[in-house]
Amino acid sequence: MGDKEKRVAIVTGGSRGIGRAISLELAGYQYYVIVNYRADRAAAEETLGLIEKAGSDGQVYRFDVSKAEETKEAIGQIASQFENLEVLVNNAGITADGLFVMMSESKWDSVINTTLKGFYNVTKPVLKKMISKKRGSIVSISSIAGLVGNKGQANYSAAKAGLIGASRSVALEVARLGIRVNVVAPGLIQTDMIKDAPADVIKKMIPMERIGLPGEVAKTVRFLCTDDASYITGQVLSVNGGMF
Ligand code: NDP
Repeated sequence: MGDKEKRVAIVTGGSRGIGRAISLELAGYQYYVIVNYRADRAAAEETLGLIEKAGSDGQVYRFDVSKAEETKEAIGQIASQFENLEVLVNNAGITADGLFVMMSESKWDSVINTTLKGFYNVTKPVLKKMISKKRGSIVSISSIAGLVGNKGQANYSAAKAGLIGASRSVALEVARLGIRVNVVAPGLIQTDMIKDAPADVIKKMIPMERIGLPGEVAKTVRFLCTDDASYITGQVLSVNGGMF
C-alpha cells in the first residue's frame, strides 16, 4: 500500500506505557501508527518492533510536543507524506509534583507546556489536515486529577483540566465537519509514571482494589477513535476502576 492510501494514526508519547498500548491497539485495527517520542528512541523502536511482530506497520518519529517549531515541522512533514491522517492521540505527558506554595515556575511551566501547549502544537496542524479530508478523530489523555484535583499536582491537574476544556471547545467547532474530539481520563495505571507511588496505599483508594493496565486505557481510546463511536464527540470517558 502506498503512503497516500494508508490510514494513519499519530500517538504522541507512543514509545512507552499507555502510549505504547494505544499504538499497539490501533495498529491492530489497520492503522499505520506514527510512534512519537521525545528522548527514548530505544523504547520507541521497541514499540515499533511489537507492531511489526503483530503484522502491522508504522514508524517512529521524534519531536518534543512542548516545542512549537519542531512540532510544526514534524507534523508538516507527516501531513505532506500521508493523505489520510485519521487519528490523533494526544498522550504525551509528564509530572513534576510538589505542593503549590513551593512549586517552582519551571515545574509549573514544564507540565503545562507538555500537556496543554502540546495539545495546541500538535492538534492545530493535524486538525487542518483532517478538515481538508472531512474525517478524523482526536482523543486526548487527561486524568482523574484533571477532574477532581490532586494534592501536590496543581500543575498537572490544571493542564489535564485544560485539556478537557480545549477538547470540548474544539469538538463543538468541528462536529459538523466529520471530526470527533474526545477525552479519556484514566485513574491509576501501571506505568513508569507511577512506579514510585506506594501500590498498597493506592489500591485502597480504588473501588476495584487494583491498579489499571495500559491495555485497559488503550481499548477505550481505540473505541473512541474508530467508527464504533461515530456519534460520540466532546465527551470525557473515565477509565479508573470506579473512582469518582
Ligand atoms: P510514561 O511516563 O510511562 O510515558 C510517557 C510518554 O510520553 C513517553 O513515551 C515519553 O517519551 C512521552 N513524552 C513525555 N514528554 C514528551 C514530550 N514533550 N514530547 C513527546 N513525548 C513526550 O507515562 P504514562 O504512559 O503513564 O502516561 C501517558 C499519559 O497518560 C500521560 O499523559 C499521563 O499524564 C496520562 N495518565 C497516566 C496515568 C498513570 O497512572 N500512569 C493516570 C492518568 C493519566 P520519552 O520517554 O521519549 O520522553
